[in-house]
Amino acid sequence: MAKKKANLLEGAEKTEKGLKFKGIIIEPIVENCIGCERIVEFEGEKYCSSYPRPAIKWKNGACNFATHVKASIDKAGQVKLNPLKASKRAARGR
Ligand code: SF4
Repeated sequence: MAKKKANLLEGAEKTEKGLKFKGIIIEPIVENCIGCERIVEFEGEKYCSSYPRPAIKWKNGACNFATHVKASIDKAGQVKLNPLKASKRAARGR
């Protein structure tokens, strides 16, 4: 069962560079992260509980810790997400 992670970033503070937590700057999640169970919210923004910089996680392919998609890299080096993600995204757009 999904645990409530609301307090996971307790003690974090917002700075000009981003959210600072335990001495590191945490950047918000990226679009590919939406739906992942590792997302935590802090003051209305969403962050990853596993990586401080989600954008980097997706830059070189798919995030290997994503809980919401089975992503893989095809032969051309493109990230492929499974249909579950695509249908969820379509449903949200309606
Ligand atoms: S684990 Fe990966 S997909 Fe999930 S929120 Fe973090 S960076 Fe995004």
